[in-house]
Amino acid sequence: MSNPSLLILPGDGIGPEVMAEVRKVIDWYGDKRGLKFDVSEDLVGGCAYDKHGTPLHDDTMAKAQEVDAVLLGAVGGPKYDNLDFSVKPERGLLRLRKEMDLFSNLRPAQCFDALADFSSLKKDVVAGLDIMIIRELTSGVYFGEPRGIIKDGNERVGINTQRYTESEIARVARSAFELAKKRGNKVCSMEKANVMESGILWRDVVQEIHDAEYPEVELSHMYADAGAMQLTRWPKQFDVIVTDNLFGDLLSDLAAMLTGSLGMLPSASLGLPMANGRPKALYEPVHGSAPDIAGTGKANPIACILSFAMALRYSFDEGAEADRLEQAVNAVLAKGLRTADLLGEEGVQPVSTAEMGDAIVVALEESL
Ligand code: NAD
Repeated sequence: MSNPSLLILPGDGIGPEVMAEVRKVIDWYGDKRGLKFDVSEDLVGGCAYDKHGTPLHDDTMAKAQEVDAVLLGAVGGPKYDNLDFSVKPERGLLRLRKEMDLFSNLRPAQCFDALADFSSLKKDVVAGLDIMIIRELTSGVYFGEPRGIIKDGNERVGINTQRYTESEIARVARSAFELAKKRGNKVCSMEKANVMESGILWRDVVQEIHDAEYPEVELSHMYADAGAMQLTRWPKQFDVIVTDNLFGDLLSDLAAMLTGSLGMLPSASLGLPMANGRPKALYEPVHGSAPDIAGTGKANPIACILSFAMALRYSFDEGAEADRLEQAVNAVLAKGLRTADLLGEEGVQPVSTAEMGDAIVVALEESL
């Protein structure tokens, strides 16, 4: 059988720097765990525009559709700020998400023990936290029609439309239940069924999919505003939260920042299963290209490395190896290693991007 395939798109700014550390981890898995990937690399974002005049070449798009998973660094930078909207670096990323139909956006909020003091919440509220927010990514109020700013008599009116079809809700609900089965077996669905018809339909469809296909998973429903309060009060009550595009945008940022720095946050965007059963998938850190520190060796590679851990778990069914990688990150942090973004305590010298990557590979080695 051929090796699983991985398309790597390092992108711009710190993207290539953090991706170089992921390559060390991928090589380690190939050498030491027999997990070999057919890795190819290509351009996305500003660097693709520089070479091809477009932030995502059609050939790269075609490759992304064929591989088992795509791993992306980050795109953008001041050099491209004045480009036409249609060729801005971010358009490359949006095209990938749209054409791969990545409707299920997974944003974990996971607190590594060594960083529990980093949160703005009390340590006992966040220590050991491990929850997953699933945000519907391709529909809802950001896409619904009609939209625009119209003239109504003497004043302007801004319009956006929250619109969800049954099948759009059903597929993201399935994705949440499937994920919960690999985790704590609990899903909380959040909407505003008290004031929005789309919320009533959301609640009904999630419940129907649960009852018909996933009765073994524990399901609860919560209004999204109450959910925001509960997330800051006692986030450990949750396992998987599934919600729409708008509420997910807010709740996933809120939940992610419970646990500290942008340099630590991975994400996955999943689509429908391909012929081999694996979902279409794009893994990327939440952060951008950080032009302010690009080229200085200060970037934290952990968000990108943890994005690869998500790929191991959700694309390649290697949950135990994903655990191993997350534990290696935890071990390195527990030893006190910190990139500059994680400095809190006085007198701690930061390590470079490469030193952090090397230390994680050593911790992987020590896990054997
Ligand atoms: P950013 O995430 O790039 O940076 C915000 C701040 O966090 C900066 O101070 C940066 O130095 C720091 N930071 C980010 N990642 C870090 C890491 N791994 N290690 C240490 N520090 C880190 O957001 P921004 O400054 O608003 O945007 C910069 C560029 O990135 C823009 O062109 C923007 O459009 C683009 N962007 C791209 C993505 C993406 O590719 N998914 C996401 C957000 C922003």
